[in-house]
Amino acid sequence: MTTDGVRASTQMVGILGWPVRHSLSPVMHNSEFRRLGLDYVYLAWEVAPEFLEQAARGLRALGAVGYNVTIPHKQAIVTCLDELSAEAKMIGAVNVVCLKDGRAIGYNTDAAGWRDDIEQDIPLAGRSLFLIGAGGAARAVAVGACLAGVRRIVICNRRYETAEALAEILHHHFPKLQVECGGPTSGECHQRIRECEVIVNATPVGMAGHGGSPIPAEWLAPTHYVYDTVYTPAETPLLRAARERGCKTRNGIGMLVRQGARAFRLWTGVDPDITEMEKTLVRALTSSGSPEGT
Ligand code: NAP
Repeated sequence: MTTDGVRASTQMVGILGWPVRHSLSPVMHNSEFRRLGLDYVYLAWEVAPEFLEQAARGLRALGAVGYNVTIPHKQAIVTCLDELSAEAKMIGAVNVVCLKDGRAIGYNTDAAGWRDDIEQDIPLAGRSLFLIGAGGAARAVAVGACLAGVRRIVICNRRYETAEALAEILHHHFPKLQVECGGPTSGECHQRIRECEVIVNATPVGMAGHGGSPIPAEWLAPTHYVYDTVYTPAETPLLRAARERGCKTRNGIGMLVRQGARAFRLWTGVDPDITEMEKTLVRALTSSGSPEGT
C-alpha cells in the first residue's frame, strides 16, 4: 500500500471491526477509487467494543463520509446512529453508515447484495427457500428473500430457539410469508427440503477449517438451486456435493462484492464496476489466503 494520491482534500471511509486486519474491503474499495479517479481513501480501524461509541463519534467529528461495520459491532452500532434504513431495522443490524449533514444513517446492504447476486441465476418471487442458519447472515438473506417476494422459508438451524427467533421477526414484517423451523438432523427438514427450490447456507460450515457440509449430501436433488454464502474455499463441500448431483450453484463472493458496491454508491454517488471489484477481491483472496469477513 502506498499513500500516493492521498491529499488534504481526500475523503475518508473505512471499516470498524475487531479484529479487522484480515479484511479485504480496503483493497476492494481503494482499487476502485483509484481506477475511477475518485479522491477517497478506505482504511481499516480495529476498535474494541468498549471504544465503539467513541470511534463512531470521532469519525463524525473528523468528517468521514461513512464506514462499514463488521463483527462484532453490527448490532451495537445502532445506538450510535440517528436513523436506520427499513432493511437495517428489519434485520436489526447495520453494515454501512453514511455521515451526511451532521446525521449518521445506518444501512444493511448484505440483504440486497445477496439478492442482486442470486437473482442473476434465479428470480426469487414465489419460490420456497430452505435457509440453513439463523444468525446475522441468515437474517439478511431471509429479509432479502422476503423483499424479493419468496412465498415460503424453511429455517434449518443447529439451535432451534435461534431459528424460532428469526421466524418471529419474519412473521412480524411479512405476515403472509409461510415460515417453518427445524434442525439439520430432523426428519421434518429432510421432508421440507424436497418441497423447496432454493437452498442457501448462511452458516460458517464448509469454510476452510469449519468442517464439511451443513446438511447431508443425500438431501440434495438435481432440481435444487444451491447458494453458499461462504466463499473460501470457492467450492465448499456443500457446493461440490450439489454440483455432483447436477444442481446449479453459486458461492458468496458475489454477495461480498455486491454489498460493497452498494456501500460504494451510498458514499460516493458513483456506480462502481462490479466485475473489476470482483477481480480485485479474487486476486487478493488468492494472494492472502485470507479468512472470510467483510
Ligand atoms: P453468526 O451470526 O455467528 O451466525 C452463525 C450461524 O451459523 C448460526 O445460525 C449458527 O447456529 C450457525 N453455526 C455456526 N457454527 C455452526 C456449526 N458448527 N454447525 C452448525 N451451525 C453452525 O454469523 P453470521 O454473521 O451469520 O455469518 C455466518 C457465515 O456467513 C460466515 O461465516 C460467512 O461464511 C458467511 N457470510 C458471508 C457473507 C458474504 O458476503 N458472502 C456475509 C456475511 C456472512 P446456532 O444458532 O446454532 O449457533
